[in-house]
Amino acid sequence: MTNPTSPVHTYGPQAVVQPLLLDSPHSGHDFPADFGAAASEHALRDGEDCFIDELYQPATERGVWLLAAQFPRTYLDANRHAGDIDLDLLEGGHWPHTHVPSGKAAIGKALLWRTLDDGAPIYARKLGIAEVRYRIERCHTPYHRALQERIAATQARFGRSYHVNCHSINAVAGTQGEGGAGRARSDFVLGDRDGTSCDPAFTAFVREVLVGMGYDVKVNDPFKGVELVRAYADPRAGRHSLQIEINKRLYMDEAARTRHAGFEALQKNLLALVDALLDYTCSEVARR
Ligand SMILES: [Zn+2]
Repeated sequence: MTNPTSPVHTYGPQAVVQPLLLDSPHSGHDFPADFGAAASEHALRDGEDCFIDELYQPATERGVWLLAAQFPRTYLDANRHAGDIDLDLLEGGHWPHTHVPSGKAAIGKALLWRTLDDGAPIYARKLGIAEVRYRIERCHTPYHRALQERIAATQARFGRSYHVNCHSINAVAGTQGEGGAGRARSDFVLGDRDGTSCDPAFTAFVREVLVGMGYDVKVNDPFKGVELVRAYADPRAGRHSLQIEINKRLYMDEAARTRHAGFEALQKNLLALVDALLDYTCSEVARR
């Protein structure tokens, strides 16, 4: 379903036909009029997982559902708890609703980011309670509702669900980047929150497929997965969530924010990965 004004788009069949589903929380770049940021749009797109929704879109031809945020990650990061408010960003420094700090505020990357990866401030102002609440209601709530409902519907249909949370990473960490400034990153980083958000065999399978394609792959280092793989996962109850980070150098020119010649090859490999995952997940469903 695509609605040009909706902050959340879904692709693929409305009915559940596969035990695998995907979400891309950070590929949006429709800049809302009420953003009120001081940083330039170009700088704000540094937080974006550029083209990740497009890279995975061929999977929808296999009946795999894909959820994609349309709002920028620097406007609201859907991969955070709705209560993960950075108090330093608020007028008055007090959040009157449930406060669930994750520690990400220390690097300026709570639900609403305060700084970019290089530490530059996003705003030249504080944010009011009402505008923060508006962003949560307009973006966070529908995104999480759509994902949670799809996971539940998938489990209702198949007895289990396999959710892949799709991201990309800059080739080299910025001064406030996870894993340490200046650190060159692997081709892929898989995150299952140290084996707690999905069956470790699922993570191992994904790793094996990607290594077989010639990629260098790390697991939970330095990215373990955050809110979207935590919130609805319960491997013992059959709900599996795995984060996959792809290095931007594999498919785009980071400075120009354009795809490069590697895009198509990566897109083909991701479709081959999805095919392998469909074999894996369908046989897991049949086995139990
Ligand atoms: Zn991301």
